[in-house]
Order: sequence, then C-alpha cells, then structure tokens
Amino acid sequence: MAAQKEIFLKKSKIAFDLKHRKTIGHNISKYDEALAAGQKRYINLELAKSRAAYIKQKVLNNLADYLAQFEKNITAKGATVLWARDAEEAIGHIKKNISENGAKLVVKSKSMVTEEIGFNEEVEQLGVKSIETDLGEFIVQEAGEKPYHILTPAMHKSKKDVAELFTNNFSTPKNATAAELTGFVRQELRKKFTSADFGVTGANFLVADVGGIGLTENEGNGLMSVSFPKTHIVLAGIERVIPSIEDLPLFFPLLSTLGTGQQLSAYNSLVLGPKKTNEADGSEKMVVILLDNGRTNLYNSGEQSQALKCLRCGACLNACPIYKNVGGYTYNTTYSGPIGSVITPFLGEFKDYKHLSFACTVCGKCTETCPVKIPLHELLLKNRQQSAEGKQEPFLWDMGMKAYGYMFNKRSRLDGVGGNVKNAALKISMHPFGKKKEIPPLAKSSFSKQWNNKK
Ligand code: SF4
Repeated sequence: MAAQKEIFLKKSKIAFDLKHRKTIGHNISKYDEALAAGQKRYINLELAKSRAAYIKQKVLNNLADYLAQFEKNITAKGATVLWARDAEEAIGHIKKNISENGAKLVVKSKSMVTEEIGFNEEVEQLGVKSIETDLGEFIVQEAGEKPYHILTPAMHKSKKDVAELFTNNFSTPKNATAAELTGFVRQELRKKFTSADFGVTGANFLVADVGGIGLTENEGNGLMSVSFPKTHIVLAGIERVIPSIEDLPLFFPLLSTLGTGQQLSAYNSLVLGPKKTNEADGSEKMVVILLDNGRTNLYNSGEQSQALKCLRCGACLNACPIYKNVGGYTYNTTYSGPIGSVITPFLGEFKDYKHLSFACTVCGKCTETCPVKIPLHELLLKNRQQSAEGKQEPFLWDMGMKAYGYMFNKRSRLDGVGGNVKNAALKISMHPFGKKKEIPPLAKSSFSKQWNNKK
C-alpha cells in the first residue's frame, strides 16, 4: 500500500482541476456570505467564543469526571452505556446488538465518528443495509464516495452533478430542480425510517448533568432516526461531553453560525434516554457507545490536546487556503483540513500522518475562525516540531541548513557575499521552491550597497 504522504502528493494534483476549483470556490463563497451575515447577529461573538473555549477547556481538565457523570445520568434514564477503546471494540458492540436483534435495515444520521470506524462497510458484512439519511451523506453514499467535508459531505458536487447521479441511479428527470430532487429523497427516506430496525446517530453534545444527547441538524433526519426505529444507537467520541443543559443555548447557536451561518439549525433536540411508558415517540432501547480510538493519545500529547475542544463545525476547513485548493479527498483521512491535520497523527500513527501538518501556510485563518479558539496553526507547528525532533536528516541537508541558519542570522553576513556566489549557491540547491518556480537571478551587489552608492 502506498504511504499516506505519497497518496497526499498524488491526490493534491486535483488543485489543477478547474471544474473542482470552480465548484469548491462557488460553494465556499456561498458559505462565506452566510457566515458573514450570521456572525453579525452576535452582539459580542468574541465573548461567546471565549465562553465556549473556557467550558470546553474545563471539560478537558475534568474529562473523566464529566464522562462518569454523563454515564450515571443517562443510565438512570434507561440507556445502556458501552465503552470502546478503538474502532474494533465499537464495531464489536454494534455487531453484537444488531445480531441479537436480527436487524436488516439501519437508518443513520450524519456522524463523522461512524465514518471513523467504517460503520456502513462493517454492518453490510452482516447483510444489514445502512442508509445515510442526511441529504449530503445520501448523495455521497449513492455516488460510492466518502464525505468530502466534515459538515457538508457533498460540497464537491454541483447541482448538475447531483442531477446526473440521480438520473443514473433512480431515473429521475435529467432537468429536475434541486427542490424536486430533495422531494424525491424525502419520499425515498420516509419509507426507510418507518421500516428500519435501528437508528444510528452521533452526538453533537453529551450533556453530563441531565444525561442527554444533544443533536443539532437541519433536515429532521436525526430526529426521525431516533423516533421511528425500535433501537437507537449513539456513537460518540469521548470529547463530546459538556457539563450542563445550561450550556446548550451557547453551543447550539455557535455551532450553527460557524457551521452554516444560521442563527440556529432547524432541529435542536435533547434525547433523554429511550421512551418512557407514558411517551408516544422514541426508541424502546437506547445504547450509547463512547469511543476513544486515539483520543486518549491526543489528550496526553501536550498542547495538541486542545484540539479535543473541537465542535466539528467545519469552519476551519472553509477558511483554509490549502483545503480550498486540494479539497477534502486529498487528505485521505476521516477528518480533513486544519483540524484533521492536527488530530489525525494522534488518532492514527504519528509517523503515517505527520506530513499533513506541513500542508499549511501558517496564515492563521483557521485559528481566527474557530468558535472554541483552538490555536490550530500553532498546533500544526507543534506537530511539525514533534516530527522534526529526533529525526536524522541526511548529512548534506543538515550542513546546508546549518549554513543557511548562519548566513540568515545576520544581514551583514548575507551582504558580504557577492551576487555571483549567491546565484551559484542557488543553482547547487536545485529548485528550492519546487520545480515549477524559477527564481530570477539575484542582483550582483546587495540592496544596502546599491542604496549607499545611490546616496
Ligand atoms: S477546529 Fe474549530 S473551526 Fe475547526 S472544525 Fe473544530 S471547532 Fe470548527
């Protein structure tokens, strides 16, 4: 299997694909407009971000306690909590539940954690069909693809692409409008919701003090995945916990604003266990699987642990100049963009994914936009530092970097060397800025010398 770094370099050639650039550029520009309008609705957005960052940091400082509180409270409401150290254990829990209940059909709302463990592929091995019910996820599933973006999975597809896909897969009219295609999916999914055995969701928030699952979405598919099937499985990363129900009025709007520019998503739910005897709606059984899968590794990593505050709003991806050029699939990881580049080396093997931290211009736009003030570009630099530490570079490279450091440390040293020598040195170093960049010849004498002569 090709190394991840080679895959990244190969896939990054998509930056030259003009159609891809146009689609991404169009979709991100729409997001930018909505975000600008959404942010203006806050009287003091910085204060909201600071509060959210403070609460999430408080959670990280007491993670074990909040998780224990969440487990105790949701168990008291009738749910079963299972812990999974890794993807294999999580899949084991899910397969056991599915086999015991003889399930055949699963409806699933959008959840990146289910992508992380390869949920759909795994349950299909049991002969169980897992249907994505979020429109974007439904589109990429029908296209046989993975989510392109952590919040907007089909961001790389234009309306025309979707219309063509649906004509091929469902024989819908070629000239169907977006509203007609959405209506078609709604009809299709309605049948699935009412006949599914299991509903699977993630959790935007695990609310510790009440023992609840906070879900925020726009299509109502999450709510229907919870309400219709007899069993509701929740799969959530252990970092999703927040202390209190009183924090939801801060987190729900912040996530919506940074995610899509909305003041609030259309559906915001708090699921407090399976349905009670006097309730008409809801699942009869609820299982909550709390997944580690490398999060403890990230937690123990030092400064990079701040990335566990992430709300998965996707704003840093939309702000990132690298993401806007190479797109989501180039990363070849579940989580892409700046946040993906920070966390993936800890969720997987550091050596396999450390190259992602170099796919960054350190412009800081990601840090600027983040609703929980994660210093993403600084954490990427930390990853780079960690990657460089203890690494044996070839002798020539090492000496070259030492000479570079010595020369650039003092202006007078650089000026002391004539233009001819500098040009010869650049020739030896061969394409220091890549093969596509020709560096124009340097002037014969330094700028300061030319300046003084002029005077
Ligand atoms: S790191 Fe911040 S901006 Fe990026 S997805 Fe997470 S919460 Fe959103």
